Amino acid sequence: MEKSYRAELVGVFGCPVEENPTGVMEEAAFAKLGLNYRYLTIRVEKGNLKPAMEAVRAFQMRGVNLTIPHKVEVLQYLDELSPAAKIIGAVNTVVNRDGKLWGENTDGKGFLLSLEQEGVQVGGKHVVILGAGGAARAIAVEAALAGAEKLTIINRSRERGEELAALLQRETPAQAEYLAWEGAVKIPEGADILIQATCIGLFPHVQDKPEIDYDTVASSMVVSDVVFNDPHTLFLQEAQKRGAKTVNGLGMLVNQGARNFTLWTGEEAPADVMTETLKKEFGL
Ligand code: NDP
Repeated sequence: MEKSYRAELVGVFGCPVEENPTGVMEEAAFAKLGLNYRYLTIRVEKGNLKPAMEAVRAFQMRGVNLTIPHKVEVLQYLDELSPAAKIIGAVNTVVNRDGKLWGENTDGKGFLLSLEQEGVQVGGKHVVILGAGGAARAIAVEAALAGAEKLTIINRSRERGEELAALLQRETPAQAEYLAWEGAVKIPEGADILIQATCIGLFPHVQDKPEIDYDTVASSMVVSDVVFNDPHTLFLQEAQKRGAKTVNGLGMLVNQGARNFTLWTGEEAPADVMTETLKKEFGL
């Protein structure tokens, strides 16, 4: 190819977005492969997403990530959706395919890959999820589509929890139920995988942990947390004390970023460089 001074543009739109670490990880990956790409961390306030998405087309950006508060609103500005994004009803990654904007949700896929990398499959398993927000929805739908047999959603707000359980029951082959979160909730006997998908424990609230009956966490369970900063959450520490195998949220963050990298560039992502960059960023 002839030399080009024009960089390919990708980035993230969100508000707040200042503490989003994705750009550092993606830029390190571009540098590793010698790709002339730039990842821009852009503050787009609620109400400004429409012109921002028009700019994606006008600037011929390769794609963007969406974060709070844009993951749902963005759907109306897209031309196509992946099957999972359609069910989840939220998009965190957009790919510009010759002017057509395609929406995907890589959070759940990134999470499932982080389990697989630890030798854990969701097929045929009973999966229990704490939370029913964006991350929980993406994980629950992908786990159901990947063959989980049963999903139990435990969420503080009943309405949101019931809505997610009903969505899973309606749109996926899995069996789903809502369990009310009252006091120190007991994890159902026979659960195989327990996932903490609320924001509890996220920096700076590292001293917080979800209120569950930790003595109902069995050593046979795989216990995972989506919180990645700091990844050694008190929740995972409690699970480790009960002998459970644990998987932290760093893998999910790297895997969704690696997937986005491949969707935009068509190249395999240097996941090891991305992991090391993030660890350095978080002082780990
Ligand atoms: P949302 O705001 O969409 O959802 C938040 C969820 O947390 C809701 O279920 C909410 O319950 C619950 N919650 C919040 N505070 C409490 C509390 N004090 N007690 C009980 N439940 C509570 O957020 P997201 O789903 O987008 O994000 C959740 C977490 O996932 C964040 O920590 C985020 O950093 C992490 N994340 C990690 C990723 C990774 O790559 N590792 C990727 C994406 C997100 P309710 O419905 O009752 O309000």
